[in-house]
Amino acid sequence: MELLRLGLDGQLTVDPADMEVASLDFGMLGKIEPLAVLHPSSAQDVARVVKAAYGSAHGFTVSARGHGHSINGQAQTGKGVVVQMSGSRAVPPRVVVGERYVDVWGGELWIDVLKSTLEHGLAPKSWTDYLYLSVGGTLSNAGISGQAFNHGPQINNVHELDVVTGKGELLTCSEEKNSELFYAVLGGLGQFGIITRARIALEPAPQRVRWIRVLYSNFMAFTGDQEYLISLHDRPASQKFDYVEGFVIVDEGLINNWRSSFFSPRNPVKISSLGSNGSILYCLEITKNYDESTADTVDQRLNFIPASVFITDLPYLDFLDRVHKAELKLRTKGLWEVPHPWLNLFVPKSRIGDFDKGVFKGILGNKTSGPILVYPMNKNKWDRRSSAVTPEEDVFYLVALLRSALDDREEIHSLEYLKKQNREILRFCNDAGIRVKQYLPHYTSQEEWMEHFGDGWDRFYQRKMEFDPRKILATGQQIFRPNYLTSSTMAS
Ligand SMILES: Cc1cc2nc3c(=O)[nH]c(=O)nc-3n(C[C@H](O)[C@H](O)[C@H](O)COP(=O)(O)OP(=O)(O)OC[C@H]3O[C@@H](n4cnc5c(N)ncnc54)[C@H](O)[C@@H]3O)c2cc1C
Repeated sequence: MELLRLGLDGQLTVDPADMEVASLDFGMLGKIEPLAVLHPSSAQDVARVVKAAYGSAHGFTVSARGHGHSINGQAQTGKGVVVQMSGSRAVPPRVVVGERYVDVWGGELWIDVLKSTLEHGLAPKSWTDYLYLSVGGTLSNAGISGQAFNHGPQINNVHELDVVTGKGELLTCSEEKNSELFYAVLGGLGQFGIITRARIALEPAPQRVRWIRVLYSNFMAFTGDQEYLISLHDRPASQKFDYVEGFVIVDEGLINNWRSSFFSPRNPVKISSLGSNGSILYCLEITKNYDESTADTVDQRLNFIPASVFITDLPYLDFLDRVHKAELKLRTKGLWEVPHPWLNLFVPKSRIGDFDKGVFKGILGNKTSGPILVYPMNKNKWDRRSSAVTPEEDVFYLVALLRSALDDREEIHSLEYLKKQNREILRFCNDAGIRVKQYLPHYTSQEEWMEHFGDGWDRFYQRKMEFDPRKILATGQQIFRPNYLTSSTMAS
């Protein structure tokens, strides 16, 4: 009733179809139904709802939902309103060509940002592998892909934000203006405000991409080459690659895994033909913008298996949108809407060899249920003022175990088995003293969150007290409990 009196321009609904969507996410690991769903038609709508929650005598929560591609219910709330940011485009993208930026609604999907900027020959610099994610959703985490070694994560490529704080104020923030809010929100897991507009830096869009994959049987040779390639970040464009990633191939089927539309069926790659003797292989994945020379000088210093280089050429949009093609295929087979117990870790460079021995060659036992990405990033490309958490080393790796549970198959593909393996991996890291940090973190106790943030916890907590003192935003992250549910806060 409180909400109905607000005079919202958008639609507040309890329609079962809307409620069903808002109760679920990509992970499909849990379902929580909200009290109502708001399709806002402006930032003011978002502000009105948050202000009402902030001032409410009874108390209710507000969770922004982008495209719902979280794993563990991070955008869900059972005690309040889900603001469905994606799909309700309040404001169309506005590209400012001269100053090379685009202003976008917080719920805009990256695929639509890309399409609108390409019309002007421009494109954002830093990406995620998959583009059907919202701007607000990835900026609440970091937004990483193979460009991060060079441009930093997406949160480092934002000039300005409009944010509705947990008090219901709509504020513009940037490095110069309301900077504490700006850096709090970037990588802030939705804890400090709802991003309604982001001003994203652009560069001239490359036209085509040369996409190169190279196989290794030796992990240290693979990571050595990756580290060499990312160390070139400050060189002129002609002397470095534009994208550096990599993945682990732990069983033969996976050379053509769902992330990979790369290896042509007309030219199937037989792992056995590469002389790996059934052991694990590693695949370096790099790209070079097509029309420039392909940096032969860099090529010469790599240590891959001779005759294991695969090259393809494609338009820039097709390269960036590569995972969506795989998604469409999986959907037709009913393999997309299944539980995804994903685990994403940042592993310090000094321990990545131990991680390989203990996890890829150990716990995973030469079998997996989805792609495993491994690629390094430079910490100096991450702004320490943001809320994002990374390991304390100059170079750290993303290890992404992107596995799907398929209960009708062998036990090793079941949800329980994969969840147990995730716990084993975390325990192994803990026991071996490998100081990993979870990316897209999931914890359920305050102690674990404090451990996650380490020295950064005090700042995170202070920012929470300043921008969302009643702790009503993004409660699905399970960092804080709303004040109205507890007299003593979890954080005290
Ligand atoms: C297939 C797939 C591929 C992926 N690939 C990558 C990748 O390559 N790189 C990478 O970095 N990540 C990747 N991710 C993870 C993804 O970036 C995060 O899960 C992200 O949160 C998803 O965005 P979303 O719009 O679906 O967010 P949601 O799941 O809807 O929301 C995530 C969190 O952000 C909050 N939030 C959402 N919108 C806003 C807003 N406007 N303002 C403030 N808070 C908000 C929510 O409350 C919630 O806490 C991938 C995920 C999937 C499923």
